[in-house]
Order: sequence, then C-alpha cells, then structure tokens
Amino acid sequence: MLKWLLVIGVIAAVYFLFIKKSIPLTSGKKTGSKTPDDDTMVPCEECGVYISIDEAFIKEGKYYCSKSCMEAK
Ligand SMILES: [Zn+2]
Repeated sequence: MLKWLLVIGVIAAVYFLFIKKSIPLTSGKKTGSKTPDDDTMVPCEECGVYISIDEAFIKEGKYYCSKSCMEAK
C-alpha cells in the first residue's frame, strides 16, 4: 500500500511540474516583452545579415547567421 502511495505521489508531482511549466510557456510568449534579450538583432560577422540573438551562432564572441558563415572565417 505504501508503495502505491509513493508511486501516485511521484506521478502527481511530475504532472504538477509539467502543468506548471507549460502554462507560463504558452501565456508568457504572447504577452511578450518580458525578455527583450531574445529579440535583439545582431549583424552576421561574415555577410552582414541581421539575425536575432536567439538564433545566432556565436563563435569567439562574434555572431554569425549560419553555420557556414561561422566556418567561413
Ligand atoms: Zn552570415
């Protein structure tokens, strides 16, 4: 009996964590502007194309738009 209570407790805890994590993810992105760093645009060091810092490839402190640009230097 104790084993079952433990199993149910663990499942409930995981379920709770999953729900708690998924709610701010969906509602947080729509309200936006809470994380300005994600929208920062930086020029690619190789070709000059602007990409968001979120998608940029970073090598030695410089930003690149793609892996091929990163490896070009
Ligand atoms: Zn580039």
